[in-house]
This record gives sequence, C-alpha cells and structure tokens, in this order.
Amino acid sequence: MIQLEAARKGIVTEEMAYVAEKEGVSPEFVREGVASGRIVIPRNPNHRTLRDFKGIGEGLSVKVNANLGTSYDYVNLEEEVEKARVAIQYGADTIMDLSTGGDLRAIRERILEVATVPLGTVPIYEAEFRAAKRKSFFDMSADELFQVIEEHGRQGVDYITVHVGVTLKNLEVYRNSSRTTGIVSRGGGLLAAWMLHRGEENPLYARFDDLLEIARTHDMTLSLGDGLRPGSLADSTDRAQIAELLTIGELVERARRAGVQAMVEGPGHIPLNEVATNVQIQKKLTGHAPFYILGMLPVDTAAGFDHIAGAIGGALAGWMGADMLCYLTPAEHLGLPTPGHVKEGVIAFKIAAHAADVARGNLRALERNRRMSEARYRLDWEGQFALCLYPEEARRLKEERGSRTKACSMCGPFCPMNLVEAVLRGKARMELQGAPYVQDPVG
Ligand code: SF4
Repeated sequence: MIQLEAARKGIVTEEMAYVAEKEGVSPEFVREGVASGRIVIPRNPNHRTLRDFKGIGEGLSVKVNANLGTSYDYVNLEEEVEKARVAIQYGADTIMDLSTGGDLRAIRERILEVATVPLGTVPIYEAEFRAAKRKSFFDMSADELFQVIEEHGRQGVDYITVHVGVTLKNLEVYRNSSRTTGIVSRGGGLLAAWMLHRGEENPLYARFDDLLEIARTHDMTLSLGDGLRPGSLADSTDRAQIAELLTIGELVERARRAGVQAMVEGPGHIPLNEVATNVQIQKKLTGHAPFYILGMLPVDTAAGFDHIAGAIGGALAGWMGADMLCYLTPAEHLGLPTPGHVKEGVIAFKIAAHAADVARGNLRALERNRRMSEARYRLDWEGQFALCLYPEEARRLKEERGSRTKACSMCGPFCPMNLVEAVLRGKARMELQGAPYVQDPVG
C-alpha cells in the first residue's frame, strides 16, 4: 500500500516507524503528517537499496539534498557514483541525479545501486535529451515525456521534479515581468522554450492526471518544480514567481486528492530580508506542503563560494520553516562539481540545516549542542569529537596543530575555559617556569 493511502487509513508503515525513530517523534505524529500532506516520505518500492528513509516536512529535522550527474561537456560514470557515495557519507539526506550526458539509464542504474537514501530525478532532461539526439529538442512529444517518467518510476526513482507551474498563462506573466535574468531553471527553461516554440501547453500541466496516475503506481513523490524561480536578487519575489506558486498550490491539492505525495520547490536568489516572506507565502498557498528550497542564495556575487552564501540563506530559510535545502557547491554557476566540491557543499548545508534545527527548537539538536559545550568546557576532546558534526575533520585539525597542554594550541596555558573555576577551587597553577603548563580541568 502506498504511503499516503496507508496514512489515511490509520496504518503506520515500516517507513513511518523508521522516520519516527530517527527523528525522536511518535509514529502517530509522522502518520498524521503524511496523511495531511505536511510530511512526505519519498519511497519507491522499486528502489531496492533504499534503507535510510527520510521524512521531509513540518515538525521534523531540516534535510539536505545533493545534486549530481553528468553534463553534455563532462561524462564520467565512475565519478558520478563517487559523488553519490561522498554525498551520502557526509550526510546528504537525498540525492538527485541530474545527468544530461552519456547513457542516462545506465548512470541512474549505477547511482541507484549505491543510493541508500532517496533518489530524485528531473525526467524532462532525459526526454529532451532523447529528442535532441534524434533531431531537435523541440521534437519531444508529450507521450515521450510521460514514457520517460514511467521508466524512472519502474527503475526505482523516489521523487521527480516536474515543472507543472510553467503554464502558457504564467509565461505571459513572465513576459510582462521585465526580468534581469529571465528563466534560469534548466527544466523550466527547456519546457518554456518547447511550449513557446510549438504554441502548446505544458504537457505536465495539461495531463496532470496522467502524471498522478504514474506517480501513484510507483509511489513516486512529486516535487513541484519552480521553473520560474528568480535567478537574481533583482527578480526575487516577482509576479512570475508568485503566479507559478499559485498554480502549484492548486496542483498540490489535486495531488493530495489523488493520494500522491507532493512537495514544493522554491527559490532561488532571495535577499535575506525576503526569506521569511517567501517561506510564509509558500506554506500558506500550498496547504503547508513540505518546502524544498534551492539555497536560498542571498547574494549574486559569491561565485566560487556559493556554498557559503547559500548556507547562510538556507539556515535562515530553514529556521523560518523550509523543510529541505538543496545544496550549492563552490562550483555553482561556474561548472560541473567534482567529488571534492560535493563534499564541501554537503558539509556547508548540513551545518546550515543543523543551525535551523536548533533555532526551530529541535530537542535532539539542542541536546547535542548542550553536551558538546559541556565536553568543550571540560577539555574533553574525545567527547567533542563524538558530538561534532564531522569528527574526522575536527580530530585531524586538532592533531595537526598539536598542543603542549591539555588545551588546544590556540591559547595553550592561557586557555580560559575553566581557569576561573580552577582558581575558585584553589587548583590553578599560574606559573609557566619553562615547563609545560598543566591546568586542572573542572569536573
Ligand atoms: S585553548 Fe583557547 S581555543 Fe583552545 S579550547 Fe581553550 S579557550 Fe578554546
């Protein structure tokens, strides 16, 4: 039985129980969230290697997605598999295969083999790629697109991005919006070009019921993509973005009625002062569907370091209520990322998500931070390594920089961590006298 249907019948599935255990909430809380559409659990039964189920939505920890995949310019299957492994090793909660070069089916197959977490795709890439190889991407037929979606479902893809809100009506709004950076979504741009060239409606919108049927068959979660998202601060929160969100809100309702899980993708380039507004209107207009954001990126000017800029926006958006952050890597806007870039991007966004969890009052995150501080105050290095997000990196740095005292090499004998307490207890030694200074830690 598919997740949403089970939840509505009052059944707690194995996946719901797993998510509840991992999150430290009750199974009933997760079931209710899934039944109401406020939580999704992407889980295609055909994805046999999926073990680490994820709940995305209100009341749960903030998740991080890592994108990978080949491009037209760069095809290296083993490197993409390596990226998937690296992303999962450093904590990506889901991964997306966005390949647009090489044998797309074979690439997906290999990535599925190592994907112990949910896998997402953007089927329009493959449909357009097939048509372009044959003749021209304008040659893609609606049937071809739905055939690709069906194939992804059969293969085991857990969630798909579908740019259903790029409609002819919303493209009119876009054309009257005088944007600085036009349409920057790869899938949204491809669809818009196809629609405008052929004068036809978006098949994902026109045949939304067919899409729901396929999604139901394979229990694929729909991620309703923001094809008209702003690609610059100048375009943030404009009419085209909001028009698309209104359409998506209606489609979330139709998906829920059909028993299909749906989350909503969001911007994009958004200044910090508009982040809260964006989260609030998304939640309001979509009946509190899980919000999966791309960044948000609060400056346009951090090329080479967009993972840091995006983590700043992501932390704030997560605090305000966004449920999953799509990472950015240092290569964002510049090129296809390497496995090293994937690692840096995942780490930056996991920290952002953790910061958001703390601000949202997530009890496990709060407790972990409290215990970390206690270990830090005791100069209990093993305790700190056990509690920090990336122990290996912390241990390596500590050892690399060495120390002649129990403290670290930053302040050494002048470590203030428990100096005053030691003085109050009459246990502090304040003389250096050539010998390594050993300070009594408190506790
Ligand atoms: S030596 Fe300085 S940096 Fe190192 S633990 Fe003590 S207070 Fe912190």
